[in-house]
Amino acid sequence: MFTKIPCAGESTAFACQCLPNGYDLYERIDLTKDKKTFNAIMIWSVAALVVMIAAGLPEHSFLAAFDMPTEKVLICVAAMAIGLLAYILLHEAVHGVFIWFFTGSKPSFGFDLKSGMAYAGSTWFFKKWPYIVIALAPVVIWGIVLAVLCSKAEECYFWYIYAIQIMNITGAAGDLYVTYMVSRMPSEVLATDSGTAMNFYMKK
Ligand SMILES: [Zn+2]
Repeated sequence: MFTKIPCAGESTAFACQCLPNGYDLYERIDLTKDKKTFNAIMIWSVAALVVMIAAGLPEHSFLAAFDMPTEKVLICVAAMAIGLLAYILLHEAVHGVFIWFFTGSKPSFGFDLKSGMAYAGSTWFFKKWPYIVIALAPVVIWGIVLAVLCSKAEECYFWYIYAIQIMNITGAAGDLYVTYMVSRMPSEVLATDSGTAMNFYMKK
């Protein structure tokens, strides 16, 4: 009789290296190929951008950001640009730290040229809540750090720091979309995430 060779991979309380017996593909989300997903993410990004600028304006005038000598404005703009670039790496680093924490093995990092997306991925199969923690960790952790910095910053620096917070929230559209989709799936779902595409598995 045919017997399936058992998975020789490792497993933790949060994830396993191979798909357990009896599991089958349930749903696939490809952030670079699925048009409906792509549109939902774009709409979220633009809406979040508009809402965040509108929320910041009543208390913080744009003019305050330029109320300083020109050299200082240039330094602030350069620092903001560096901050925005560093943010991309720091966002993926947080995904990576949590992947590593849940699996005990190194994540893979990369950049998808076609979609312009930086990503952290793994070949492991994650249980539902660890997967949601991995997805949400960057936007939550950096969201808190940036909110504290914004509240403590002198008025003239507010918009330079807030710009990075806007990037944190708008750029997390993919993570929030995936969280929303996974939160609606049954609790026994397992997820793999290559960085730009996710496969979800369920017991047959
Ligand atoms: Zn992310």
